[in-house]
Amino acid sequence: MEEALEGYLRSGMLPHMWCAGCGNGIVLHCLIRALHELELPREKLAVVAGIGCAGRAAGYLNLDTLHATHGRALTFATGVKLANPDLTVVVLMGDGDATAIGGNHLIHAARRDLDLTAVVFNNSIYGMTGGQHSPLTPQGSISTTAPEGSNQRPFDLPHLARGAGAGFVARATTYHHRLLTRLIENGIRHRGFALVEAVTYCPTAFGRHNKMGSPVEGLRWQRDHFVDIEKYMGLPEKDRIGKEPMGLFYPAPEPEWPD
Ligand code: SF4
Ligand code: MG
Repeated sequence: MEEALEGYLRSGMLPHMWCAGCGNGIVLHCLIRALHELELPREKLAVVAGIGCAGRAAGYLNLDTLHATHGRALTFATGVKLANPDLTVVVLMGDGDATAIGGNHLIHAARRDLDLTAVVFNNSIYGMTGGQHSPLTPQGSISTTAPEGSNQRPFDLPHLARGAGAGFVARATTYHHRLLTRLIENGIRHRGFALVEAVTYCPTAFGRHNKMGSPVEGLRWQRDHFVDIEKYMGLPEKDRIGKEPMGLFYPAPEPEWPD
């Protein structure tokens, strides 16, 4: 099994450039596992990525990949899919890439309901460019552009995507990697626009500014902070404070448009 998974990596590109303890490798591993489980022929797969630490993931995949421009991964992916509808197209973006620079493309990709699977690596910050806050940075968090703590409310990404028209909307963390793998797999199976928010820990930019500790402590934070959506919905209001739901957010309807 491990050998089969390693076959998905472009060994000439290794070692990777991610910091020690970065969660991006776990997200990439979950994606590889999902692709392996789906048994899709390699020549039917295309991976498009944006710019940033998350965007580098495409370069490590031994598949047909495209490292697009900042915020425009979904536009390139739309072109790839329309030119060759037989391809399974997966789009990898960071939180800033997907929801700030690429926010407009994200809502319209969701609205068009094209058969694309977007995996948003949400590390709560712009990691590669030095730790500026993004539209997914939690309120109160410290970043280089909010040294006193961000006073802005973040987007609620799953609800934003659903409101824009995405049929499949899900979230999991790198701690809950089995769930993340299953959600990516089901997102790819879904015939329409699927968005999977992969909550990942950036010890270098986010963790350091916010004194969140080691990569292991970041994973513990994910373990204690995220609850299965069904359990979350059953919690009294006061017990939801400090918790976030994860899982499949809505039953995915059968899309009609892609066909
Ligand atoms: Fe990972 Fe953060 Fe380092 Fe980027 S800056 S590689 S997201 S730990
Ligand atoms: Mg980021």
